[in-house]
Amino acid sequence: KRPDQGLSRDLYQLMEEANLFYQSQLRQHQEKQKVIDYLNFRGLSDEVIKHFGIGFAPDGWDGLLGRYRQNQAAQDKLLTAGMLIENDSGKRYDRFRDRLMFPIRDRRGRVIGFGGRVLGDGTPKYLNSPETPIFHKGNELYGLYELKQRHRDPQHVLIVEGYMDVVALAQFGVDYAVASLGTSTTAEQFQLLVRSAKEVICCYDGDKAGREAAWRALETALPLLKPGDHVKFMFLPQGEDPDTMVRKIGKDAFEALMQQAMLLPEFLFETLSNTYGTDKGALAKQAMALIEKVQDSVLQNLLLENLSHKLGMNSSDDLKKKLGFATKKAQPLNAKGLQGRGTPLRLAIA
Ligand code: ATP
Ligand code: MN
Ligand code: MN
Ligand code: MN
Repeated sequence: KRPDQGLSRDLYQLMEEANLFYQSQLRQHQEKQKVIDYLNFRGLSDEVIKHFGIGFAPDGWDGLLGRYRQNQAAQDKLLTAGMLIENDSGKRYDRFRDRLMFPIRDRRGRVIGFGGRVLGDGTPKYLNSPETPIFHKGNELYGLYELKQRHRDPQHVLIVEGYMDVVALAQFGVDYAVASLGTSTTAEQFQLLVRSAKEVICCYDGDKAGREAAWRALETALPLLKPGDHVKFMFLPQGEDPDTMVRKIGKDAFEALMQQAMLLPEFLFETLSNTYGTDKGALAKQAMALIEKVQDSVLQNLLLENLSHKLGMNSSDDLKKKLGFATKKAQPLNAKGLQGRGTPLRLAIA
């Protein structure tokens, strides 16, 4: 459902005003020193703070609201934009208070939402804008606009979990990371990235949640892929995230680690092998359930070939029959199928 044009225009305008307000508070608020201390503690440079437009939402109920005291129409729109909250008795107040503010931009550079981090250990650690007529989390990626500012035609894009990861990586020269705005990367986000870059590398946190996020990402990306799409997975040591990692080892070592990222089929088969060990029946069943979802028939056939080798079979004919492929004519691996985005899919499992 499309919001009406006039309303959207006003919402974009108010979001930009809020953004400028938060940035000004970082420079001139009387309590700015505690924010500067926190930014120093996190090791963020002035340049990267400026590049991402990071700001400060001061403590108090009406830092932003107070600027629109005489303007009821603007207040109504700020509520729609998710910048104000209304309580049961109709009283309105700022959603973001005493937080470090990360403006989220759409592909055209318009501010559509914010992520706000507490300056320390409070909860919730991050507060994000809600869904609004101009902000649909599943369709947007934090940092994509900023990335496109630096690379018109990026070779690779790194998907990470958090705002801090994107910003820290950029500060250290890995300026091609974006964050999905929520727990998992959506199909829309993958579609967008696969179209934007030759290689898409998922790099989630080195913890249980991160590894689970990687597997969910595989399940989300798999149906959309075509031969020639390179989706890879990079794994960090336990307890690290891209922010801590790049600070520890620097750009070159981080990129060397990135070079070792696994292609999606490798990750798929390795995970299944690790999970099912010598139980080939269970492995086949789970693999088939995933391969079934692949929409591109060339890629599907490649994965079936791969699986049949894994299972010690001579050909994938039996597997294809199981999927009801018997009558479906296999598409030849012609130039048309494999061009598009450069080199063909490399199946890494021998
Ligand atoms: P930091 O380094 O500042 O602690 P992080 O990005 O490493 O942050 P994680 O705990 O790894 O934080 O979470 C990853 C991402 O998940 C965050 O950047 C944020 O977008 C989101 N997130 C984390 N905690 C919350 C929360 N309590 N509410 C909403 N989103 C959250
Ligand atoms: Mn984490
Ligand atoms: Mn972190
Ligand atoms: Mn993290």
